[in-house]
Amino acid sequence: MELSCSVCSELYVPSVHVVTTPCGHLFHNDCILPWLERSRTCPECRAECTATALIKVHFNVTANLERNTTLLVEKLNKLTTKLDEQVEALRKIEKRTDKCVERQSMMVDTLQLLLDEIRTQSTCIRDLENKMDDCTVGLGDFLTNMFDTSTV
Ligand SMILES: [Zn+2]
Ligand SMILES: [Zn+2]
Repeated sequence: MELSCSVCSELYVPSVHVVTTPCGHLFHNDCILPWLERSRTCPECRAECTATALIKVHFNVTANLERNTTLLVEKLNKLTTKLDEQVEALRKIEKRTDKCVERQSMMVDTLQLLLDEIRTQSTCIRDLENKMDDCTVGLGDFLTNMFDTSTV
């Protein structure tokens, strides 16, 4: 429940001076006094009223504060839950990113292995080519020799 002064429409705060008229209506002391100087009636119900008939009102501030604290704690709890959810979501994204990075590094490793193999194989091919060249030269020599001996 929130109480407000019908003269100025502002809510009553615990520290402010609030008074009640004999008819039971609440006003700021600073709002009702100038009013009563002009008209000796309650601004709310027009019942007769004088400044001397006003009674100071004391609110039970503790109860109000407790309620507000409870509301604040509830709000804080909701916010904390929301924050937890967001942190969880962020963690999931992080995990996914980690997996991607892992997979990428695995792929780089595989690629490196393949490159090594290709390099090894090209070395083998070069060796084979060299050997074949040697063989070709050898065969040429052999054929030349054979031709020479047949003509002798
Ligand atoms: Zn007021
Ligand atoms: Zn009144």
